[in-house]
Order: sequence, then structure tokens, then C-alpha cells
Amino acid sequence: MKTVYDLTREQLTGRLVGWGEPAFRAKQVWTQLWKRGATYEEMSDVSPALRERLATELPLGVEVLDERTADRGATRKALLKLGNTHVIEAVLMGYRDRVTVCVSSQAGCAMGCTFCATGQMGLRNNLTAGEIAAQVVWARREARRLPATTPQRLGNVVFMGMGEPLANERHVFASIAKLTDPSGFGMGARHITVSTVGIVPGIDRLAGVHPQVGLAVSLHAADDELRDQLVPPNRRYPLTKLEESIAGWRAATRRRPSIEWALIDHVNDTEQQAELLAPIARRLGAHVNLIPLNPTPGYPVMGSPPARIRRFVAALERVRVNVTVRDTRGRNIDAACGQLALSALST
Ligand code: SAH
Ligand code: SF4
Repeated sequence: MKTVYDLTREQLTGRLVGWGEPAFRAKQVWTQLWKRGATYEEMSDVSPALRERLATELPLGVEVLDERTADRGATRKALLKLGNTHVIEAVLMGYRDRVTVCVSSQAGCAMGCTFCATGQMGLRNNLTAGEIAAQVVWARREARRLPATTPQRLGNVVFMGMGEPLANERHVFASIAKLTDPSGFGMGARHITVSTVGIVPGIDRLAGVHPQVGLAVSLHAADDELRDQLVPPNRRYPLTKLEESIAGWRAATRRRPSIEWALIDHVNDTEQQAELLAPIARRLGAHVNLIPLNPTPGYPVMGSPPARIRRFVAALERVRVNVTVRDTRGRNIDAACGQLALSALST
């Protein structure tokens, strides 16, 4: 157990009853932990002695090492130490109509995408289901401090922080089960999205295990030659196989997949790439999300300038592909995934 959030309700009850507490007390603590997202100090209906014992023996395991805000407080990025070992980051993003948290599934990542700060640090550890869920609980608590320009209620979870969720599939799937447990956190599965580099067997299983969860695939290139360079797992799961798997996911879930595409100046923002991407997106009925690349220490190439972004968008729209340019939230606080952790680890 890394954090109390790793325990099931039965396990928590077992521990408290073992300490001589009545079962209703365990229910109280469970509800406070998951529904309110309360810390032990905030549990005013629990005696100080019990709170202390809980904190010592069943720690929350979430320590905020650093917190940065941007966009007038609407973006909050935290460097979190989980389970007393792993340093990861989570980002809370408040928009006019919704609040989304971007969570990490691993400390580091083994996939080696050249442009990604997390990829540049390699894999340090998988996170447990409780450590993943703990970030979302942190976000529920933190959302109450957001400015009045956004709702103060967490609405969505995206697995777009550090790590490849489908390379830590068991814990990620278990964390989704925790988050959607109606007696616990109680979030609707439709409000959760898994972003993957394209691990085909994982996509296939996601459709079966959590059919209501959304899928975003980080494509970044529409031919195997370029994709092999940018996203090395493509060598194992090339584009035709990946497309087949996404199509299978769509048929099974009847949901619209997203394609993520970080626009890299003169690398994947060409007319030719747009022309190759368009038929893939159309066959999949996918929504394309574009974001200008955030340069990272190990890949100091620029994101595409506005004129090139406009050209790329126009080429897709001409053939009626659904496309959005995403805002670059918190760019000045190193919000590209892994950037804050990378700079913290290297100092
Ligand atoms: N491993 C998963 C989820 C985490 S990465 C995945 O790759 O999908 C979340 C998103 O951030 C991915 O779409 C990834 O390609 C993108 N990304 C990584 N580094 C980036 C950078 N430097 N600039 C912009 N987007 C980046
Ligand atoms: Fe890992 Fe995703 Fe970064 Fe690739 S883009 S290295 S899969 S976190």
C-alpha cells in the first residue's frame, strides 16, 4: 500500500475495526476521503487521536513539493510526491464552463518520444491505482480554490500527464474503477479520457473493460517513416494496425476518438502530412486536436508559428475534418507534460 487510496472500502474497514473502531467510523472516513476529498486534518468529525493514527499508519501519501499558477490562477500545476517516493506532476485547468485535471500514470516514461520531456527522463516507476486516484482527489480539493471565472468543481480527468497509461494498464484500469465507484469518488466514466501513444492491445482491452472512457491517440505523424522517428512505439504498432485498433474501439464504444498532434515546425506541419492525416481522421470519424509543440531541453525544435498552424488547419477543414487548435495552458510554468518534473529532478 502506497497511499490510503490504494485500499478498498473493505480493507479500510478491516483496518479500523482491527483498531477497535466501530464500522460506521470507517464509513465516515471513507466518505470524507473520497467524496469530499478531505485530508485527515479536515475531518472534524473524527477524533484527533484517530486522525493521528490514520495519518501515521494509513497516510494520504500526497505531498505538494511545488505549486505554480498561471492564467490568473485558472491553471494550477503541482509537483507531487506520491507514496513518499515518486515525484510526478498534475495540472488543474479551469475553463469558463468546466474544470479538467491532467494526471500522470507513471513517473517518467519508457516510450522515448523524442520531443517529450517525460520521454527524455526514461521510466522511473509505475504508479499504483491509489497514487493515480490520489491526484484526482487532490484536484477535487484544489478546484475549490479556483477563481470565480471558472466553475469550482472538478468535471473531467485526462490521462495526459507523465507516462504512458497503457504501459501501466493494470493500475490505470484499476484507478478508473476507483474513480467511478459510486460509493467512493463517484465520477462518471464518460468524463475520463485516456491518452495513448498507440499501444494496440491496450486500446483493444480498454474498449472491453471501460467502454465509456474516452480515447485520445497521440498520432503526430501520418506515415510510418516519420512516425517511427517521432514516436518509437510505432515500430511495434505501425499506422495500419493502430488505425484498425482505433476503428475497433470506436465500433465497440460508439464514441468519437481524438487524434492528438503536436505541430512541429517544418517536421509534421506540412501540406503533405495534412493530406495523409485527413483520410485517417475521416475514416475514424476522429476529432483532431492540434497543439504547437512546446520545445523541451532534449528537443529544442520550435512549435509551428501561427501562419503554418493556420495553413494546416485549413488543409484539414477543406476536406471537412473536425479540428481544434488547443490553447497552450500554462506554457510559462513548464506545463508541457514532464517539464516541471524534469527541471526539478535535474537540480
Ligand atoms: N503517453 C500518453 C499520455 C501522456 S503525453 C501519450 O503520449 O498520449 C500527453 C500528450 O502530450 C501527448 O499527446 C503527447 O504527445 C503530448 N506532448 C508530449 N510532449 C509535448 C511537447 N513538448 N509539446 C506538446 N505536446 C507534447
Ligand atoms: Fe511517453 Fe507520451 Fe511522452 Fe511519448 S509523449 S514519451 S508516450 S509521455
